[in-house]
Order: sequence, then structure tokens, then C-alpha cells
Amino acid sequence: MFVQSETILHAQVPSQKVWASPDAIVGDRLVVNYDTWHPVIIHDRNKCIKCGICIKMCAEVVNKTLLGYRNRGFATEVGTALGRPLPGSCGDCIACIDACPVGTLDKRIKP
Ligand code: SF4
Repeated sequence: MFVQSETILHAQVPSQKVWASPDAIVGDRLVVNYDTWHPVIIHDRNKCIKCGICIKMCAEVVNKTLLGYRNRGFATEVGTALGRPLPGSCGDCIACIDACPVGTLDKRIKP
């Protein structure tokens, strides 16, 4: 019991120093649909932090340029040209899935 309360105290002190609080992250959230059309890849845009790693991976490593940013500002999202689902030709390399840090892009069938 003593160890647990001390652990909480150690975590609280740094967070209080930087005024971290759940109230700091309230506000509107962009709610978008999953893209489950693709036979290999699930694209859950609600998880996306818009880091752009998948875009760079597809463009600069795989040389396909299938992904890109769409819209501007708050409505920015990662997707394909004209908002279409991921093409069927995509999914051979799964480099974007491996690169995504938050699991926005994920395999439909897990090994
Ligand atoms: S790598 Fe993942 S989190 Fe980053 S922009 Fe792409 S889908 Fe979003």
C-alpha cells in the first residue's frame, strides 16, 4: 500500500510541474469512418496522429505514392487520391503497417 501511494506521488509531481491535466485535451474530435474495404489492410483513421510516416514510406521507400494528406487544418486526414478506398494493388509490401506508430493501418488477418 505504501509503495503504491509513493508511486502515484512520483508520477504526479512531474505532471503537476508541467500543468498536465485531462482538462488540457478536451475539445472537438474528428470522427471518421474505418476503411474496411481492402482485403488485407484495415484503415482506422480515428487513431491517426497525422505524422506522415506512412505517406513517406509509400512514396520514398516503396515508390507507389498511394497515400497522402487530404483536406486542411482540423479536417486533415491521411487517405488516397479523391478519398477512394485503398486500391486492391496495395497491400503486397505492408510497409505502411509496419511503419505506423499507432496502429491506424493494420492487418485484417493477424498471424
Ligand atoms: S503512419 Fe499511422 S499515424 Fe502516422 S500518418 Fe500514417 S496512418 Fe497516421
